[in-house]
Amino acid sequence: MRPASLNPLFAPAQSLTGIGPRLALLLKKCLILPPGVSEPRVVDLLWHLPTGVIDRRAEPSTRDAVPGTIATLLVRVLKHKPPPRGNNKVPYKVTCEDDTGRIDLVFFRVERAFVERQLPEGEMRYVSGRVERYGETLQMAHPDYIIAPEARDELPMLEPVYPLTAGLSGKILLKAARQAVDRVPDFAEWQDAAWLKARGWVDFKTSLHRLHRPVDAQDVSNGSAPWQRLAYDELLAGQLALGLVRQTVRAQTGRRISGDGHVRARIADALPFTLTGSQRTALKEIAEDLEAPHRMLRLLQGDVGSGKTVVALMAMAIAIEAGAQGALMAPTEVLARQHLETMAPLADSAGITVALLTGREKGKTREAILARLASGDIDILIGTHALFQADVIFHDLAVAVIDEQHRFGVHQRLALQAKGSNGGTNVLVMTATPIPRTLLMTHYGDLEVSKLTEKPAGRKPIVTRKVPLEALEKLIDRIRAQLAEGAQVYWVCPLIESSDVSDLAAAEERHAHLQQTFGETVGLLHGALPAKEKDETMAAFSEGRLKILVATTVIEVGVNVPNANIMVIEHAERFGLAQLHQLRGRVGRGTRESFCMLLYKAPLGETSEQRLSMMEATEDGFKIAEKDLELRGGGEMMGARQSGAPGFRVAEVPGFDMLLAAAHDDATMILSADPDLVGPRGQALRSLLYLFECDEAVRLFRAA
Ligand code: ADP
Ligand code: MG
Repeated sequence: MRPASLNPLFAPAQSLTGIGPRLALLLKKCLILPPGVSEPRVVDLLWHLPTGVIDRRAEPSTRDAVPGTIATLLVRVLKHKPPPRGNNKVPYKVTCEDDTGRIDLVFFRVERAFVERQLPEGEMRYVSGRVERYGETLQMAHPDYIIAPEARDELPMLEPVYPLTAGLSGKILLKAARQAVDRVPDFAEWQDAAWLKARGWVDFKTSLHRLHRPVDAQDVSNGSAPWQRLAYDELLAGQLALGLVRQTVRAQTGRRISGDGHVRARIADALPFTLTGSQRTALKEIAEDLEAPHRMLRLLQGDVGSGKTVVALMAMAIAIEAGAQGALMAPTEVLARQHLETMAPLADSAGITVALLTGREKGKTREAILARLASGDIDILIGTHALFQADVIFHDLAVAVIDEQHRFGVHQRLALQAKGSNGGTNVLVMTATPIPRTLLMTHYGDLEVSKLTEKPAGRKPIVTRKVPLEALEKLIDRIRAQLAEGAQVYWVCPLIESSDVSDLAAAEERHAHLQQTFGETVGLLHGALPAKEKDETMAAFSEGRLKILVATTVIEVGVNVPNANIMVIEHAERFGLAQLHQLRGRVGRGTRESFCMLLYKAPLGETSEQRLSMMEATEDGFKIAEKDLELRGGGEMMGARQSGAPGFRVAEVPGFDMLLAAAHDDATMILSADPDLVGPRGQALRSLLYLFECDEAVRLFRAA
């Protein structure tokens, strides 16, 4: 399917010289992989752009070298002076010279053989690193590079500095990234020539080279011409993909789905509450969409706890009334299971069949589910990413619901959408985070929006307080009193960036600490636990056998344990507002008075202070989202990394809004002139879509 010329880019990163299984694992932590991709590939390195450069271009003589600066010197190796045996406090010194003077290269705790191999006496070497004055002598401790004159090309005079992870050195990444850009083939230009000229942009391949093999330090910045070009490429790919889908959707006159309401009525009878006004309005809008001859693509926005789940169930019930099936996709296994537990009893009363499919259902179990799905025996399938797989075939999927969409990419939504019979299914996307217009446009295209504005009746306010870590013991005393009254507590430990290990350690440590006080009623939940254990822990908490659940942010989305009424968030200063709000939404769902305790480590920075105060001041998700936007600035709102939004890989740049709007118009024009992308530019654009992995869109234009 993908053009063969792109295969070297989509080969595993391990196909690069110097990258073995161990480094591949580190790369996996360090690079942003698209959802569903588990092994880093060469192409992922292309999008891992440097954040700056080390300038090694200064090539002074030893006499002119400026202490405290990075310099590259060409010297002759004079003499080795290893430390006395058994004394590793004394460094290994290698004296070198040029025509103007001497410099000592200094190594602490180094293997003698290594130095001897690198710096044979009498030979010339380029050494590059920080020069320092030590008494009367000039020295360079642990040169970054020691290179023979004939291999001078290997020395990056402008060395790109990459975001790294523990254990992964800049040198390794540099070497891998260089090989990756060398694999980029020459593409036919997919951008409009006049537009490129107006922006001063160069071609795709050259742009990548300028960033990964810079010759100008200015280029390594997200405002630079090469970076902006790549950003625009990514945005155009996204807009084209959406445009292609929209075009396909419009071309199809879908069938009308309507029901007699009997399944919905039975579900309503089984509910312990009546629907709110906004739930009813949303359902009416959905029913009208389904009945219309076009395909539904609707976003259901509602704050945490606004009751989206039951709307989803009712929407799927319409499909069942019409003799078809529904699917519900959740971002995590925990959440998928939770949905199953919520829906199963209601489905039972309504006489419909619900099943679960996650990555965990394997072998015979999985086969059985797939068979029942294909025969139409299963009415509603709930699951995770596993629902995307090609062998998951529905008898007749009419309504697909995607929960907490911001965790998924556009492409995955399209993949699920494509699963329905006759070309596609109706899609309802549910999200708790109000999504800014630009994000909507990039990730959803023209979709309709329903909003749940009321909270279900009986919701109690959540008392929110920020608490310094020094007051921890006092907090524990209060929790003890609350537990005596039947309370249950979520205790969230922070996400420490780029280090899953210490993340885990923090949660484990807190768990051990709380167990000392509260004994076996304290459970632990984190991503690295085996799935079965996660379920058991979740079930125990849900049934009240566990009173305190210490967790990493696994619980962030959607978990529903109405009796839990206290949320403690440790290192709350490290979380974004949207995330804090999501977490807090886990409590306040039952009859008890609820609390959210934001534990922070003093002193608070100004922004953190504002964030935590905002949390104390309001529970209104929309207000919080606005404040979030204000505190972060518009561009960063797009930040996939903080918000958990399906990320851009290179497009988070200054001028984003303008570029996006341009890409949107460009895509519209391209598709109106060449809807099947068969003209010369169209052909070139196909490569762009493959490069940015808009695979589902690619599938569409091939079918078209
Ligand atoms: P979210 O929108 O965050 O997914 P849920 O669907 O999980 O919210 O609903 C949160 C809680 O509110 C659940 O316990 C659910 O049973 C309850 N709920 C939903 N709708 C109503 C309603 N109309 N009246 C009372 N409680 C409701
Ligand atoms: Mg939910």
